[in-house]
Amino acid sequence: MPDEHLTFDRLGLIPKLLSATKTAGYLRPTPIQQLAIPPALAGRDILGCAQTGTGKTAAFALPILQHLDAMVGNKPKLRALVLTPTRELAAQISESVKTYGADLDLWHTVIFGGVSDKAQIAELRRGVDLLVATPGRLLDLMGRGVVRLEDVELFVLDEADRMLDMGFLPDVRRITKELPKDRQTMFFSATMPPQIRRLAESLLDRPVSVAVAPVSSTVDLIQQEVFFVKKAEKRKLLAELLREEAVEHTLVFSRTKHGANRIVRQLEKDGIRAEAIHGNKSQGARTRALDAFRSGDLNVLVATDIAARGIDVDGVTHVINFDLPNVPETYVHRIGRTARAGASGVAWSFCDAEERPFLASIEKLIDKKIKRAD
Ligand code: AMP
Repeated sequence: MPDEHLTFDRLGLIPKLLSATKTAGYLRPTPIQQLAIPPALAGRDILGCAQTGTGKTAAFALPILQHLDAMVGNKPKLRALVLTPTRELAAQISESVKTYGADLDLWHTVIFGGVSDKAQIAELRRGVDLLVATPGRLLDLMGRGVVRLEDVELFVLDEADRMLDMGFLPDVRRITKELPKDRQTMFFSATMPPQIRRLAESLLDRPVSVAVAPVSSTVDLIQQEVFFVKKAEKRKLLAELLREEAVEHTLVFSRTKHGANRIVRQLEKDGIRAEAIHGNKSQGARTRALDAFRSGDLNVLVATDIAARGIDVDGVTHVINFDLPNVPETYVHRIGRTARAGASGVAWSFCDAEERPFLASIEKLIDKKIKRAD
């Protein structure tokens, strides 16, 4: 069982990676990280049932970086391969690797289709320790002799069920056939239909299975409403809501750090005290704001998604999405900050004209229509 109070330093990570989790603003490992990191560091294969938004990227990337750091030689050699279905995911994973591995002496790159392969080939020729790739482009470059997998010791197959949906399984099989047998494999999928289970069995050796609840499971306890509002009018609406309602402990979400600072300044002009927490604030400033919020001295905390992921505060009565996230799972995470431990909670979302498509994907994910506020 995941432990709510476990900290990163208990997982067996080296100091350079621990400091990277701090730089990223993570306070505690998410459940999938708690469950997967220790066995992955011990060299075990992992079968992970988890979707995007659970923190699964760090769950595989941190152990891989640690292994690479331990075995790295003078010349980069392709020792770790992460295969993921879309270019967006590939780019995101690559960004995460960059963040987590900032203090390590490793080379990595990302390749995907839809763009010229020139720069990708140049990077690969220079040599990399870790490669993040989508199947099509990888096969293409393997076919042209630019990439060889014979030295791969660590392999991650990410979002396997999406590979299946997108028709990539034959490509995946052609790639995995080229991998050395002696390797560590981590396999992640949000769902495990029979074809995926069979694929997992063929790739994994006595894996440790880790599963975390889908992120949509808390939604039903929360009273959700959406306000259709012009961008320029969000500020006024926020102040009104915060004044009128019996809002005690409100977490306001902003997509960006600048946005969070602006909201705090505007609320102050409107006579409402608020503080922001985000990655540009020092650890001390964040802790002070959180303590004030916890103790009830501060009623309104404005947070970015990354800063909020590690926050563990009971008694948040309201969550307000000042803007809607473009990743629907993030919405579920945000509103999940209220209605903790079975309590009820309220989640209000502001949606301007440009954000309508985000609302549509959120409603699709949670499989219900959010009530429109009058
Ligand atoms: P993922 O499921 O890997 O796509 O991660 C979703 C988001 O959670 C990313 O924005 C990560 O930066 C963030 N994240 C991952 N691990 C943690 C953590 N332990 N604490 C807070 N945020 C995290």
